[in-house]
Amino acid sequence: MEIFFMFVLFFVFGAVVGSFLNVCIYRIPAKISIVWPPSHCPKCNNKIKWYDNIPILSYLILGAKCRNCKEKISPQYPAVEFLTAALTTLFFCNFGLTAWTFCALFCLYILIIVSFIDLKTFTIPDILSIGLIFFGLAVCFINPAFSGDLLSKFTSSITGASVGFFGSWGLAIFCSALIKKEALGGGDIKLMGAIGALSGCLGMANALILASFFGLICFAILAILKKTPENGAIPFGPFLSVGLIINLLFPNFNLLLIGV
Ligand SMILES: [Zn+2]
Repeated sequence: MEIFFMFVLFFVFGAVVGSFLNVCIYRIPAKISIVWPPSHCPKCNNKIKWYDNIPILSYLILGAKCRNCKEKISPQYPAVEFLTAALTTLFFCNFGLTAWTFCALFCLYILIIVSFIDLKTFTIPDILSIGLIFFGLAVCFINPAFSGDLLSKFTSSITGASVGFFGSWGLAIFCSALIKKEALGGGDIKLMGAIGALSGCLGMANALILASFFGLICFAILAILKKTPENGAIPFGPFLSVGLIINLLFPNFNLLLIGV
């Protein structure tokens, strides 16, 4: 019973955070403050009452429509809330109530915002990607991905960040020269730096393999459904984020070390 209560508590906490992440996803690219004004309908500007702003539930109760003007509410809202709630519960179950759980959750929340902004705008705001690099360096001492004394933990983190950032930068220049168009966006390069800072060089390789794998599957599905975007481009940030989220959840799992 107690465990069930904890599950519900983690899920509700995650859903409430997810509701705030929706605000960030909508407002950060538009350069609007994330704390003011309070949530309102983008069409009729009606301020959303607290009872119409309950994560996941309000969307279902309102039948996906604004109470005032009946404008359709995007399914992105409950999707982000549910995703955040489910992953938050998973992180708490995996790590318990530790300082690292909250650090990993902070990274998770940034990555969810990054993914949805990248899907919508094909860009990743610097404040999020560069911010995550510095956050990764700052918390490397309690990061279970790194072992050894304080100096070796910091060395692993900063080496990962440098290889991730400069390595993918070099790769981007090389590939762009080869295919004569942008191969890897600037946002992806900074995100690679963040992946390195949070999971080191080996972890970064793991995240990159996972990201490419999921990216290819997604591309194949879109091709089968004949929904490939006209310019053939799909943002890579969400896939890199999935790779890093898997690294954060399973710090001891690495595809390169299977069987070693
Ligand atoms: Zn409305």
